[in-house]
Amino acid sequence: MTTFASLDLCPELQTTLQQLGYEKPTPIQAKAIPLVLQGRDLLAEAQTGTGKTASFSLPLIEQLQRSPNTQEPRPVRVLVLAPTRELTQQVAEMMQRYGRALGMRAIAVFGGVRLENQCRKLERGVDILVATPGRLLELLDKKYLHLDQLQHLVLDEADRMLDLGFSDALQRIMRYVPEQRQTLLFSATADEAIEALAGNYLKRPEKVRVAARNSASRQVEQYAYQVDNGDKADILSYMIREGKLGQTLVFARTKKRVDSLVQYLRREKINAGAMHGDLSQRERSEALQAFINGQLQILVATDVAARGLDIDALPQVINYDLPNQPEAYVHRIGRTGRAGESGRAYSLVSADERDFLRRIEALTRQRLTLTSVPLIENGHWHEAQPAVVQKPKRAPKPDPKATRKPKPEGYQADRTQRAVRPSLFKK
Ligand code: AMP
Repeated sequence: MTTFASLDLCPELQTTLQQLGYEKPTPIQAKAIPLVLQGRDLLAEAQTGTGKTASFSLPLIEQLQRSPNTQEPRPVRVLVLAPTRELTQQVAEMMQRYGRALGMRAIAVFGGVRLENQCRKLERGVDILVATPGRLLELLDKKYLHLDQLQHLVLDEADRMLDLGFSDALQRIMRYVPEQRQTLLFSATADEAIEALAGNYLKRPEKVRVAARNSASRQVEQYAYQVDNGDKADILSYMIREGKLGQTLVFARTKKRVDSLVQYLRREKINAGAMHGDLSQRERSEALQAFINGQLQILVATDVAARGLDIDALPQVINYDLPNQPEAYVHRIGRTGRAGESGRAYSLVSADERDFLRRIEALTRQRLTLTSVPLIENGHWHEAQPAVVQKPKRAPKPDPKATRKPKPEGYQADRTQRAVRPSLFKK
């Protein structure tokens, strides 16, 4: 069994991992870390939840600390490209956390916010930059940023970047980065488009692949019911009772809604517990333990509280409310699906949540058809069919030789951010 101690990481990183409570490397970490430390290019097939962020962050930070930088302001030596604002922030946060004891500086830049603020942060120097492609191009084109000392490039969730139309942007970014570099590509799936991307940007890559920790969203049967907000609690208890649902994780948007839903369910004699940030650590652990042991049938949680919960492989989750961040939807439904079986995700969608639904559709590239709540009798769901969802085929890979009309600056960033997070543009 691989241990962190057997991976060639410096004492500061080992201590940080202990403090974070990481006891042993996950499979992707055990495979990827030695290869990245050797300087190899990597094509890794791994999904969110497998520990993929640490699998590239740790060996890259290790490499940075082995050849310390002496220049001020610090040049960017690691660049991570990621498809969304949320992911860039998450990765930068993790990088910052892993590298803190070594004095590493990591920041995230993404579209939809003022360029000037991000420029100011960059001026102070940064070792690790995590960026969405559109915003990065804007910074590069305007010469606010130089990547001539870049040593390591990571394409994180490369499949999503292609889905979101970033392939042109990636191609242009490559003109700004040194030819001599290490490149790591992470993707949830490895299809032809990803292979082609790897063929263009990676040099003799090692390939690694790990089984999904969670079933991919594509294996989850999704249902979306059109309901009135005021009827949600009633409909939920109907689904639980008539549908004979067993262990179910239910997501509500706020702590208040979690509490009032739990009270409602208990009045209906349904065994439900709450999980949110206002509860003490002890209360949370107890609720979680009871849910895992099967003593608690229904756990109602906010996204934030659910993030740290080590539960997946549930038969179903229910979105009592849709999340206002579409990524949260993907995380939520990814918790379902036992080995070899598909999971189910039900969403109760009220009229004021249509906008959230559209954002989820834009991000996941699925159409979620709203239906009325089905007739459910004694465990039998008279369901027409799942709301889903054929993933449209990706656009063919662009021909690098074809000439294109230049797009206005920031074009990619704005278009994508608008598709995914329209609220950013309402200000
Ligand atoms: P990721 O797949 O990178 O999104 O990581 C999923 C979660 O797993 C994050 O919350 C990490 O902090 C956590 N994590 C990553 N590696 C380990 C590990 N070796 N042991 C325990 N938790 C980990």
